[in-house]
Amino acid sequence: MTTIAIAMERIEERIQQACSRSGRERSEVRLMGVSKFQALPKVEEAWNVGLRLFGENRVQEAAEKFRGVKARLPEIELHLIGSLQRNKAKAAVSLFDAIDSVDRETLIDELGALTNSRETALPVLLELHTAEDSKTGFPTLDSLYHAAEKVYAYPGLALSGLMTVAPFTSDERLIRAAFRALSGARDKLAARFPDYAWSCLSMGMSNDFEIAIEEGATLIRIGTALFGERHT
Ligand SMILES: *Cc1c(COP(=O)(O)O)cnc(C)c1O
Repeated sequence: MTTIAIAMERIEERIQQACSRSGRERSEVRLMGVSKFQALPKVEEAWNVGLRLFGENRVQEAAEKFRGVKARLPEIELHLIGSLQRNKAKAAVSLFDAIDSVDRETLIDELGALTNSRETALPVLLELHTAEDSKTGFPTLDSLYHAAEKVYAYPGLALSGLMTVAPFTSDERLIRAAFRALSGARDKLAARFPDYAWSCLSMGMSNDFEIAIEEGATLIRIGTALFGERHT
C-alpha cells in the first residue's frame, strides 16, 4: 500500500469512530483532500484509493496543478477553500466546482455577476469568522443574514451552507466552541430562510476533524493527515 492509501485507511477509521460516538452515519460526512502545496501525483494516488473531492486555497496554484486533469478524471470535484481576490474571481469561477470560502459581500457581487448566464448555479458556502488568529469570514450572524440575502438575489449562485476555520490551539474547548458557533449559525439561518438548502457544514481539519464531526460537520477538509507535510 502507498503512504496515502495507509493514511486514508487511518482517517477513514477515525471518521467512523467519531460518527459512531456521536450517533451519526458515515454517509453524512464527506471527506475533502486538501491538496494545496502538494504535487499532482499525490492527488492521483488519493484518487486511486477512491477520493473524489479536493480542495485548494489558491487559484493560480490550482489552475496549474489541475490543468487537463478534469478531462482525464471527469468525476473529480474541486473546491476553492481559500480567500479569493477580486482579480482571480473569473478564473476561479471557471476552474472550481464550488467556492467554499465566500467571506465578504463584495465577493458575492463579483461572483453573482460572473455566473449570471450559467445553466447550473455555482454552489457557494459562506465563511464565518470564529478564530482570533484567522482574518477571513463574516464576523456576525447578522452579517451572514445580509450575505445570504445577497446570494439569493443572484440566480447563478446556489448557497448550500457554511464553513469555518477553528482557532489553531490545543484547547479543545475553544475548537469545539467555534464548531458550535457554526452549527448554531446554520440553525438560525435555516430558520430564517427555510426555503433554501443549508445542508453543508464545512468544518474540521487534520487536527480537529473528530471534534468537528461530533459537532455536526458534513464536510471535513484534510490536508497533512492525508498527504503529509506540505512543500511550501
Ligand atoms: C490548509 C487548509 C486545510 C487543511 O489543513 P490540514 O491541517 O493540513 O488538514 C483545511 N482548510 C483550509 C481552509 C485550509 O486552508
